[in-house]
Amino acid sequence: MRIRSFDADKAILYLVATPIGNLKDMTFRAIDVLREVDKIYAEDTRTSGVLLSHYDIHTKLESYHEYNQDLKSDQILNELKSGMKLALISDAGLPVISDPGYKIASLAIQNEIPVSTIPGASAGISALIASGLVPMPYTFYGFLDSKHTKRIKELEEIKYLPYTLIFYEAPHRIEDTLKDMLEVLGNRKIVLARELTKTYEEYLRGTIEEILLSLPLKGEMVLLVEGYKEESKEVHPLEKIDELIALGYKPNEAIKEVARLTQANRSDLYKEYLEYKNKK
Ligand code: SAM
Repeated sequence: MRIRSFDADKAILYLVATPIGNLKDMTFRAIDVLREVDKIYAEDTRTSGVLLSHYDIHTKLESYHEYNQDLKSDQILNELKSGMKLALISDAGLPVISDPGYKIASLAIQNEIPVSTIPGASAGISALIASGLVPMPYTFYGFLDSKHTKRIKELEEIKYLPYTLIFYEAPHRIEDTLKDMLEVLGNRKIVLARELTKTYEEYLRGTIEEILLSLPLKGEMVLLVEGYKEESKEVHPLEKIDELIALGYKPNEAIKEVARLTQANRSDLYKEYLEYKNKK
């Protein structure tokens, strides 16, 4: 399927970035698009109302949030089908990224309606470029689960990714999350980027244990965690195979993965693992 975004006079859904704290981080194009569309859907009409009036944008505004998105998606789709040009914004940053929008964007695409991005600020990628951690490859995770057991399981699943990890977290959960990370990932280097683009913006750089000593911290925060590093071998490769099997890997896959991570010869590792299992 091939869809051009800018066929004049056709329906379109714009996903428009808004600032993540500093009102000046609004693009000229975002302002133009928000003025020109038939309607703006916003996560919180009161929050967005402030931004829109600041930029003298008087387009009709309606809500589209986590709790009404099932209900509103059909309405939005029908409006697009009738030829309307619509924009979707969230409270901050890019819609869809840890915010509503995925559902309506994919519905529009399934119906061959153009979906176009109006780029701008997003907290995760903005924090990454100033973090000093290896920027690529990276994994954007967003929010971990709020419950301890599920969070531990989620962390176990990404423990061996050799990529910088980007998380969003709320200030009242940061301590528990860091403690869980320490338990599962070990005492890795992290960067906590706080209040980005605002007056009290700051970056805390250190190990998980060091950052834990700086708590409590207020404000909005992004947590960037150094990826898994082979040099920091905390676990013996054979035990690592067991760990992967416990996570649901088939024995052969686990051996293959550990061979890749440790650059060991796969068949040697396989033999060693069999001996180790027989001794156990
Ligand atoms: N859609 C947004 C984006 O593109 O970044 C993210 C929305 S998500 C509901 C809100 C989370 O993003 C916050 O809890 C925080 O983790 C992060 N965040 C948003 N603004 C931030 C800022 N100014 N400084 C640091 N983190 C921020």
